[in-house]
Amino acid sequence: MRKNIKVFKFGGASVKDAEAIRNVASILKDYKKERLLVVISAMGKTTNALEKVVHAFFNKKENAKDILKEIQNKHLEIAKELFGENADFEKEISKLVDPVNRLLEKQNKKGYDFVYDQVVSLGELFSTKLIATFLSKKKLPSHWLDARRIIKTDNTYREGNVNWESTQRNISRNVNKLLEKSGFVITQGFIGSSEEKATITLGREGSDFTAAIFSYCLDAESMSIWKDVPGILTGDPRIFKKVEKIDRLSYKEAIEMTYYGAKVIHPKTIKPLQNKSIPMYVKSFVDPAGEGTFIGANVDAFYPPVVVVEKDQVMLQISTKDFSFVAEHHLSFIFTLFTKYRTKVNMMQNMAISFSVCVTIKDLERLTKLIQELKETFNVAVEKDLELITIRHYHKSVIEQMKKHKIVMLEERIRQTIQMVMKDVPVMERK
Ligand code: ASP
Repeated sequence: MRKNIKVFKFGGASVKDAEAIRNVASILKDYKKERLLVVISAMGKTTNALEKVVHAFFNKKENAKDILKEIQNKHLEIAKELFGENADFEKEISKLVDPVNRLLEKQNKKGYDFVYDQVVSLGELFSTKLIATFLSKKKLPSHWLDARRIIKTDNTYREGNVNWESTQRNISRNVNKLLEKSGFVITQGFIGSSEEKATITLGREGSDFTAAIFSYCLDAESMSIWKDVPGILTGDPRIFKKVEKIDRLSYKEAIEMTYYGAKVIHPKTIKPLQNKSIPMYVKSFVDPAGEGTFIGANVDAFYPPVVVVEKDQVMLQISTKDFSFVAEHHLSFIFTLFTKYRTKVNMMQNMAISFSVCVTIKDLERLTKLIQELKETFNVAVEKDLELITIRHYHKSVIEQMKKHKIVMLEERIRQTIQMVMKDVPVMERK
């Protein structure tokens, strides 16, 4: 049965500094009487900064603990700006950071991905402590909930797979009770823990997914993601001049858009909501009164062309060393390697003597290892600096526009979607 619980998610941009946090508090003030669970990301670019700590720890060029101290201090400064010196808050932050500092004091046998999760999760832990303390000072009582006690995953560091059964059990037992009390429940996006109680992250930008997990397990009435855009747009406003807001989207359309790389919502977010028909809203924290975008069931809309641009693409052209055709057993072997290196294929095409795939450079080290291993068996030509453009509900004119000054390396049309891997036309200047 649907309960009158709402779930909100605020991303990094919405809590990037003291002023932004004040704005979040002013939005929340209007929901004082509601039963509300609020999922919050790390402040601004904190996750990237924490990634540098991990990098420094393994590369030993800079002092990892010094970089971490800087990040901790930045949070303390913002706290001071928001509610003055506060010994209790500082103690809470130290309690979170001390075990991580100890981890950074000695060599670690558990490897990069393990250390990554223990360090990088601090971003969400810091931001939620800070915001929960600020809200309480503003007479908006809130309960800080450690998401690691609730969201249970397997042992896949940096990309934990949710154990839905134990997560559901934890939510039913602990979170429902907290929501009965007055005040907001404030928790972290992006993090959970394994059965062995190690912190596990859910993959970059994973806070939307956290909000969907809570919404599903709480049988929430709705879920809202607060962003710096008015809603879901027909393209990225940082890339395109004329973009429009889409007022209503079906779950299916939203899944398709995020699958093709629309950054506005994390791709894993929609499915759990769809399974329980929980409506979702994408709203603007700059204009909270604005309507935003509604995502739900039975939306029968006519969609305009939607363009998704994915940068940092690489095309691998894989061919056999003896010039024979690329056969099924080769493909099966190639995909085993893609699975091993957790590399998602964005687009692929099998031709007579080569098999081409387009992937995103997310983790350069991992991709380099994948290419090295592929090269042990195949010839691999690598083409860098590419863009993958996907157009949903395409029109000829939009395709033409996108192709201007570009060379198309791969193209595929399936029903309402066209995908093109493209490269800039080299500038040929006359002598
Ligand atoms: N803070 C994490 C990241 O930047 C998770 C999130 O914001 O969704 O990837």
